[in-house]
Formats: sequence, C-alpha cells, structure tokens
Amino acid sequence: MERSFVMVKPDGVQRGLIGEIVSRFEKKGLKLVAARFEELSDARVQEQYREHIEKPFFPGLKTYIMSGPVFLMVWEGNNVVKIIRSLIGATNPAEALSGTIRGDFAVDIGRNVIHASDSPESAEREIGIHFRNEELVSYSGIADSMIYE
Ligand code: UDP
Ligand code: MG
Repeated sequence: MERSFVMVKPDGVQRGLIGEIVSRFEKKGLKLVAARFEELSDARVQEQYREHIEKPFFPGLKTYIMSGPVFLMVWEGNNVVKIIRSLIGATNPAEALSGTIRGDFAVDIGRNVIHASDSPESAEREIGIHFRNEELVSYSGIADSMIYE
C-alpha cells in the first residue's frame, strides 16, 4: 500500500494543531504507521528540502523549520499521497480552499503549518530521510473492509 511522509511544522506544533491534523487523517480513513516528535538538524532540513536549496526563500524556510520541534509521521492508504495533498491544500494559504488544513489554519506561505510528500517517489525518499524501516509499523486495520471495496 502507498505511503506518504507528513510533518507538522513548528508553527503547527506551537499552535496546538497536531491533534486536529491527526484527527482529520484518521477520520478520512488513512492509517498511521509511524510518528516521532523532535527537532530537525541542519543536515536533515537540507535533505528534506534539497530541491529548494538554491531558492531565495530557503534560508528563511530553514530557520522556520528549525525554530522548534516538529511532528513527523508516515501515513498509509490507497492513493495516500494525492489524498493528503488535497487535505492539506495549496502551498500558499491565501490560495488554499476552506476545508483544507492550510485553508483553515494558516495565512502566510512561510508559516503554512504542514508538509506532505508531493509524489510517491518523494514520499519514499522523505520517509528514508526520517525513519528507519523498523520504525514503520505494519498492521491490518479492523475497518479496512469498510474503507476499501
Ligand atoms: N516556501 C516559502 N516561500 C515560497 C515557497 C515555499 O516559504 O515562496 C516554503 C513553504 O513553507 C513551503 C515550502 O517552502 O511549504 C516548500 O515549498 P513547496 O513549493 O515544495 O511547497 P509544498 O510542497 O510544501 O506545498
Ligand atoms: Mg514540496
């Protein structure tokens, strides 16, 4: 089954949004398979955002992501990458639809509360940056046959 990497950013943690975010994903029918709370090192932020290292916003992004603890998660489900991207909303909260996480809880692009992988390939890469294989818990959900046909 497909997996996605999700990170509640320091603003989401400080604003008490971890529970709300986890709850939305659970209610959607997605399955949590790993989670960890920590502060990211410089090297891990560079790895996570390697495609943005040369961008003008990168120094500010790095300072933001390293400004406090983050909540790292791996979620599992059919089409989970696409589904979570639609649940989090557009990168710029001003363009994110109401009902999405960024649409409901954020204002500024540089404080947009949450990260989620943008493709199954980047999900595999990002999971590998933050989690060891043994940390990914494999289990069958008792509601699986109610969520999947
Ligand atoms: N970002 C920013 N300014 C920009 C573009 C991006 O501060 O002009 C930050 C923002 O936090 C965003 C992250 O960099 O979530 C990664 O950008 P990306 O385009 O990959 O957006 P995402 O995949 O997070 O929607
Ligand atoms: Mg991205």
